[in-house]
Amino acid sequence: MTGIRYDDLAFQDVRDAAVNIRDIACVTPLKPSFSLSKRLGTNVYLKMETMQDTGSFKIRGAANKILSLNEEERARGVVTASSGNHGKSVAYMAKRLGIRAVICLTEIVPEGKVNAIRDLGAEIVIHGSDQDIASEKAHEIEKAEGLTFVSPFDDRHVIAGQGTIGLEILEARPEIETLIVQVSGGGLMSGIALAARTLKPDINLIGVSTLKGAAMIECIRAGRIVPVEEIPSIADALPGPIQADNRYTFPMCRDLVDKILQVSDEQIEEAMVHALKYEKIVLEGGGAAAIALLLDDRAKNFKGPIAAICSGDNVAAEKLLALKGLIE
Ligand SMILES: *Cc1c(COP(=O)(O)O)cnc(C)c1O
Repeated sequence: MTGIRYDDLAFQDVRDAAVNIRDIACVTPLKPSFSLSKRLGTNVYLKMETMQDTGSFKIRGAANKILSLNEEERARGVVTASSGNHGKSVAYMAKRLGIRAVICLTEIVPEGKVNAIRDLGAEIVIHGSDQDIASEKAHEIEKAEGLTFVSPFDDRHVIAGQGTIGLEILEARPEIETLIVQVSGGGLMSGIALAARTLKPDINLIGVSTLKGAAMIECIRAGRIVPVEEIPSIADALPGPIQADNRYTFPMCRDLVDKILQVSDEQIEEAMVHALKYEKIVLEGGGAAAIALLLDDRAKNFKGPIAAICSGDNVAAEKLLALKGLIE
């Protein structure tokens, strides 16, 4: 049996990742959501990736990638470009293993995230106003200094690491019929889709992106990688381009995902407020996008039981508490 395979990436890689990262990423709870279950008339569960060290699922992929490096590669160190959560996870892993990490960030990354990365001991390079420019810088450093580039999403080990979320969900609740997954570069969705389509081929896989700057949607529509302008959003982890040399996530999202829907910044803000008020969960904008879709009328057609990813909680308390509707 060959199963689903993209280039050198197959389901077995997700199984291997689960073993590799066991001591670093925790098996997060699949928390029943009373408010969303009531609203949708079916059981809704939230996959609590906010409970990872570093506050997002990105630790899974970063850990699986960095643990795959040999002694010599580790001795030279790693470099990446990231809108925040990936950079933080790479920095965290580098600190744990005692290796060098250089993180290239755009000028629009929130200060809280920059500080968190610096506190983890990584070297920070702030360069350019969008991810493409920051990525170019990271590749320059990769070549000049012999570091290993850790892609935020288009990497076999990174995708396999994120895919462990799909394994955990279907192991805990094999009855799940619909998965709601945030899509930016598509590493999270590709990994989950690889696992979920293998274990349960007819599962519904629904992606969620922001209204503006939704690169994966634009690329799938165009049938090829197209440049998409990065437009700032309350979900700062979501907008960002897909590079022309994409190897895995574009074909995987195109082939394995049923559809990718969009939510507005207003809907995401409402979802952040909803999560805090009714579920007592702190979510950053990107982390709340799946709940935003579940609060939209389109969710009434989703087949239950449903699982939605709460992908991260890296939002400044002041920003969260200033949201409309939190205090009546
Ligand atoms: C990175 C990230 C995403 C999107 O993941 P991709 O693999 O880039 O699609 C969603 N939510 C949060 C909180 C993230 O940090």
